[in-house]
Amino acid sequence: MINQLLQLESEAREAFTRATSEAQLEQVRVTFLGRNGRLRELQQRLKEVPPEDRPAVGKEFNRIKQALEKLLKERQEALAAPREVVRRLDVTMPGRAPRIGKQHPLSSTMEELIEIFLGLGFTVAEGPEVETYYYGFEALNYPPDHPAMDEQMTFYIGDDILLRSQTSTVQIRVMEKTRPPVRIIVPGRCYRRDTVDATHCHTFHQLEGLLVDEGITFADLKGTLQCFGKELFGEECRTRFRPDFFPFTEPSAEFAFSCFFCQGAGCRVCSNSGWLEIGGCGMVDPNVLENVGYDSEKYTGWAFGFGVERIAMLRHGIDDIRLFYSGDMRFLEQF
Ligand SMILES: [Zn+2]
Repeated sequence: MINQLLQLESEAREAFTRATSEAQLEQVRVTFLGRNGRLRELQQRLKEVPPEDRPAVGKEFNRIKQALEKLLKERQEALAAPREVVRRLDVTMPGRAPRIGKQHPLSSTMEELIEIFLGLGFTVAEGPEVETYYYGFEALNYPPDHPAMDEQMTFYIGDDILLRSQTSTVQIRVMEKTRPPVRIIVPGRCYRRDTVDATHCHTFHQLEGLLVDEGITFADLKGTLQCFGKELFGEECRTRFRPDFFPFTEPSAEFAFSCFFCQGAGCRVCSNSGWLEIGGCGMVDPNVLENVGYDSEKYTGWAFGFGVERIAMLRHGIDDIRLFYSGDMRFLEQF
């Protein structure tokens, strides 16, 4: 009798395990554990067992019955689980769209600017944001007492190491390594000890241009910036130059574009002047050329630079520079 019970247990275990659907499992259940199933059949034959053996056989019977019922339950749960998931999946629900990132307005402005100058034949040069005093000021012809070198104006990391306050440092690095013609633009991040307000920030971006070759004149500079202005603000854009001073250019000028908003008539954007001041420019000082080993009698060149934030603010009508760095999604989502 015990052997029959064990035989039944092993057959039932195999059948339960093999069932691959709830319907199959139910059939197996009926066969083994049903009201007229095989276990019941054996139960009815328990009375045939001699009385002295009954306790042992009865105990074994109960063990097997409980084990098989437990196995059945486990198999039922295992086979039911996938359907549970299917039932929860409602294909008529609207999809969960992931948030798609966008380009930061500064990055997209920078890219547009680079694109314009690539079209004019410039190539992009980059350099370190942490610079030495030599590249930051000395090689750029700054006199030793120039206020830009003051601790109040520049972030110093050590006596000789500082965060670049302009991208002009890269001009020197490129000229040291290459011979004319040099035709580069330098986009990049710069740092100054400015008090943060609506138009100033300690961290900002510049785009600088440098052209050095034989026979380069101020007329080439004017033509290039005029072309840039038209690409940026439209065909009607006019360019204005006014004298200015920078240690590394001579003569130097500040350049402005006619206000694209009012076409020069005067409006809130241009503070009623009709002009938008953009940046600085000038002929590269012969001292700078000599510093990098260029023959300043043979080669001439010009450079210009401007703030990328200012262009982005003008183009998008943004009135506070701090918005660029705030990480405020309400602001960033508008672009
Ligand atoms: Zn205007």
